[in-house]
Amino acid sequence: MNDVKTRNFRVSKYLIIFLFPLLSISCEKTLPSVTRPALGTVCTITLYDKGKQTVYNQIFNRLNEIEQHLSVNISSSDIAQINEKAGIEPVRVHEDTLSILITALNFAYKTDGAFNPAIGPLVSLWGIGRENARLPTQEEIEGQKALIDYTKIIIDGEKSTVYLPVKGMKLDTGGITKGYAADEVVRIMKENKISRGLVDLGGNVYVVGIKADGSKWRVGVKNPFDSTGTPLIRVDVENATIVTSGVYERFFIQEGIRYHHLLDSKTGYPVNNGLQSVTIITTSSIIADALSTAVFVLGKEKGIGLLEEMGISGFCVTDDKKIKATKGLESSIALLIDGFEFE
Ligand code: ADP
Ligand code: MG
Repeated sequence: MNDVKTRNFRVSKYLIIFLFPLLSISCEKTLPSVTRPALGTVCTITLYDKGKQTVYNQIFNRLNEIEQHLSVNISSSDIAQINEKAGIEPVRVHEDTLSILITALNFAYKTDGAFNPAIGPLVSLWGIGRENARLPTQEEIEGQKALIDYTKIIIDGEKSTVYLPVKGMKLDTGGITKGYAADEVVRIMKENKISRGLVDLGGNVYVVGIKADGSKWRVGVKNPFDSTGTPLIRVDVENATIVTSGVYERFFIQEGIRYHHLLDSKTGYPVNNGLQSVTIITTSSIIADALSTAVFVLGKEKGIGLLEEMGISGFCVTDDKKIKATKGLESSIALLIDGFEFE
């Protein structure tokens, strides 16, 4: 008799413990999506079925934290501190910074500097996307080019420090931060057992799972020739990131020449190789972000070659409205506008 009582008590205790969280969760409203500014852009997160305010808050707090560690515009950030202490002393940094810089440096070596995290001095000089954007003199360009040698960056993984040994050197992780952040959002979604959702960090997209009807997500890649943002290409994907680097958003025009924000370390000028945009489709958003910038700088032949060597899908859109895609991708992407063709 005693035994039975004990067992019944155990069962009811078990139920109470497990009902509590269920009740407290069911009081929260489901939100289809939340849009907030973060990482210097507009971020929209959509958590299907389980979009609870607490999870959205957790995600946006994390995005703000990443921005606090990595933004060149926040004077207390690791990156701003490393830049300030260039030629003076190493700076102890957060895990985010260490991990992003290690990946950035790997891609710098892999692409022979096409992706260059030490590009900061040239980015500041050109000021593209800011009010002080201007065409610098050749002398100024040469002066800053002397300060963009990524092979000089010293990372001490054990001490978690980063050191730029020459005064005036500056890191810039703008070409990779959104990708790192998108991977972090997806990690938080998985931690919260959210199996379907969309992450859009200023055009750096990650689709998680599949649509409710079992089909793939349809992601539109912008037509670089149309400022209204109409889609040029439709990509049908599940559990994938789609990252585009283009020269149609941040630029200025002087004497009929367009100067944009993707810079070539070799010349010191914005890349001028006949490309309008590069899109990468894969599962790691940090890799996609680094590669979208790197492939743009490398140009279509070398760039697509690198993607094929790495087994990663992607395509370039050229000035003369041609699309060059990695092998096998052409059949799984749809061209939506007349006047463009695959080459
Ligand atoms: P966006 O940030 O516009 O989505 P990207 O991911 O291609 O596009 O990153 C562009 C940013 O990367 C620039 O604004 C600049 O901060 C930085 N950058 C520019 N040129 C290079 C380069 N050659 N290597 C690495 N980063 C670069
Ligand atoms: Mg990039």
